[in-house]
Amino acid sequence: MHFARLRLSGFKSFVDPTELLIEPGLTGVVGPNGCGKSNLLEALRWVMGENRAKSLRGTGMEDVIFAGTDRRGARGLAEVTLVLDNITRDAPAGWNDEDLIEVTRRIERDSGSAYRINGRDVRQKDVQLLFADAATGAHSPALVSQGRIGTLINAKPQDRRAVLEEAAGITGLHSRRREAENRLRGAEGNLARLQDVIQAMA
Ligand code: ATP
Repeated sequence: MHFARLRLSGFKSFVDPTELLIEPGLTGVVGPNGCGKSNLLEALRWVMGENRAKSLRGTGMEDVIFAGTDRRGARGLAEVTLVLDNITRDAPAGWNDEDLIEVTRRIERDSGSAYRINGRDVRQKDVQLLFADAATGAHSPALVSQGRIGTLINAKPQDRRAVLEEAAGITGLHSRRREAENRLRGAEGNLARLQDVIQAMA
């Protein structure tokens, strides 16, 4: 499975619909200062489920929507689609039937983000799990932004462990475990209530 295309519309400086082809192998992004190189990396993070506005250099999530310039008005929505080539059929379980997997995130002012995978509405968690299981994602150590090396060197041991777990693709398992534990606690609560009812009726 590899990233094949990135489509952006209304995302930060990419106001017009833009499609980038990502060939297998090494990809370099070059251009003058301020042309939008970092915005591209942030678009990748964002579509993979990044929910911390600060890591996208914003104060709120709506800051990713094109804010307007002297010549063009602001946009009301931003959309990014990441197309994954799954011809090798090594996508995580549940997503492995198609040659292409299209993950889309869209945000509209005042109505938050919505996600789709191959046209089907999904939760943010589903997108995050898809990428976590594939050992990539919004927090992937494969995406190295400015200042990140210094942060890693100075990080606490447990934070460094989180980076290793992300790289090993087991972050998704932790997340599922937490979900299962919550469900178990809910079921235990229901059982206790049921016991009370049975006792009251006896
Ligand atoms: P450098 O080489 O200096 O690191 P860069 O190529 O990485 O630059 P970016 O930081 O990705 O460039 O892009 C910065 C540009 O994106 C700025 O011109 C900024 O005004 C623009 N920009 C960022 N957010 C928005 C937004 N929400 N709406 C419109 N333009 C935006």
